Amino acid sequence: MEMEPLNRVDNPEEFFIFNPATGEEVGKYKLMNRQDVDSAVARSRETFSNWSETTLEERQAILGRAASVLSEDSERYADIISRETGKTRLDAMLADIFSFLDLLKYYKKNAKKFLKPVKVKGNLLLPGRKSYYMFEPKGVVGIIAPWNYPFTLMAGPAVSAITAGNTVVLKPSSQTTASGLIFKEIMEKAGLPEGVINVVTGNGKTTGQALLEADGLDMLFFTGSTAVGKTVNRLAAERMIPVIMELGGKDVAIVTKNANLDRAAHGVVWGGITNSGQTCIGTELVLVDRSVYDALVKKVVTLVDSLKSGSRAGEIGSMTMRPQLRIVEDQVKDAVDKGAKVLTGGISNPEQKGMYYPPTVIVDTRPDMKVRTEETFGPLIPIIPYDTIEEAVRIANNSNYGLSGAVFTRDMVAGRAIAKRLKTGSVNINDVLITYAVPDLPFGGVKQSGVGSYHGKSGIRAFTNIKSITEFKWDFKKEIYWYPIPGMGEPELREKILAAAFRVIFSGNLFKKLSASSRLVWESWKIRRKRHRGF
Ligand code: NAD
Repeated sequence: MEMEPLNRVDNPEEFFIFNPATGEEVGKYKLMNRQDVDSAVARSRETFSNWSETTLEERQAILGRAASVLSEDSERYADIISRETGKTRLDAMLADIFSFLDLLKYYKKNAKKFLKPVKVKGNLLLPGRKSYYMFEPKGVVGIIAPWNYPFTLMAGPAVSAITAGNTVVLKPSSQTTASGLIFKEIMEKAGLPEGVINVVTGNGKTTGQALLEADGLDMLFFTGSTAVGKTVNRLAAERMIPVIMELGGKDVAIVTKNANLDRAAHGVVWGGITNSGQTCIGTELVLVDRSVYDALVKKVVTLVDSLKSGSRAGEIGSMTMRPQLRIVEDQVKDAVDKGAKVLTGGISNPEQKGMYYPPTVIVDTRPDMKVRTEETFGPLIPIIPYDTIEEAVRIANNSNYGLSGAVFTRDMVAGRAIAKRLKTGSVNINDVLITYAVPDLPFGGVKQSGVGSYHGKSGIRAFTNIKSITEFKWDFKKEIYWYPIPGMGEPELREKILAAAFRVIFSGNLFKKLSASSRLVWESWKIRRKRHRGF
């Protein structure tokens, strides 16, 4: 839900960005048009031939240096992220910077191992060959990013793409343009040649659309809402451009009767409220066994009541986008109008400047309320009792989304069984959000929450084309099945031999295998005898 950036009256090709927490102006950028975007893609294409020829050692060394540049100046970078999102500096350091530093370290250590050619077993009927597959960069990758974790959600896929040998064109959300620019700055300070990363600045309607329609893109990586994702997917499909789509979610946490209720309460409050609830894998519904419902609600409300909105470490930062704040207000109103009860929060503090919305706990909701069906993306915790695990799983899976989820229980066997039944891309047991922070775990959603995944071994390979190779080194004139096929005078005999060979090799029936073996010997002997006799 991108807000149209404010254009300058005297120069419509520029737009201003304001700090959502204070209202002060924090940036002025060029609203790039089709021509600017085409030049960025062309520049990426030009740079690709040199960059794709660099060795993995060279690329890995850059990742290591980038980790140094970022870690040595992390407070300044966190400050820039904080000013354009309204999140606290601590939140920017924890979620945006730390997770990316960890990913840099991970690919620095593992990229070569993940991208080296993979040798495989050959075909039994084709002896003498060496078979393997290798990973080649796709070319120019377009990366379109959202504003909620603007640094890590752009830098993560971009670094995966670059390490695999691609060049990238980045389109940050207009609200968080600076996060895209600091990523480029960090990578170039670390020695990345200019032109490997090209940032296009502007909104979705003009700049994003131009990127989708630009000639010369080999792949698109999109993170954002499901609604825009569908447009991106459609346009890419028309041009057969492969995509990875990381989209919206409506994540559920299930709290069973034997859960550690203190941990569950702290977990769902963190999962629902961190980053002011603007987290794709944030907890949006809490389902609690009826026997512990009252106890959990009490703990959650007490904890939420102890939290404060503000810009200092540990406080809940402001929301980032006015339209998103309106969605939260609208969902709360819709729920209350239909009979739900707000236990704490629910009304913004008129004294507080900025787009702050108080952490809010809501109960007595019904399935027809927006808060139950639509993505909220704000600091709201609806809590719902359930009577059986069946019912909890059914409510959780009754959604168009399938991003992530959580289960709180002391019974790990039951926890694993529930995790298995949730139709999502990831599940945390006795935890929230952290699958994203484990660089070895592929991250992605199912249903309308996404297509494909990144992170981990498969995540870097996702930015490559796989090329299969066979090598034959024996100095033979031809293969037995190439023309002219020997024994063409006796084609039926050849077919019989082949049919017997299939049975010997592939049949699961021992008796048929044995009888086919003796047939094979017999038919081969017949051919040899004919040859020997000269007919
Ligand atoms: P959004 O879809 O409004 O915008 C995302 C990006 O797409 C922005 O850069 C925007 O400028 C661009 N864009 C908008 N219209 C475009 C168009 N027609 N053509 C090309 N580009 C266009 O999403 P948002 O409001 O920035 O982010 C919030 C959404 O993102 C939420 O739904 C959230 O769940 C989702 N999200 C998903 C993940 C994930 O990993 N699954 C992570 C973060 C956010």
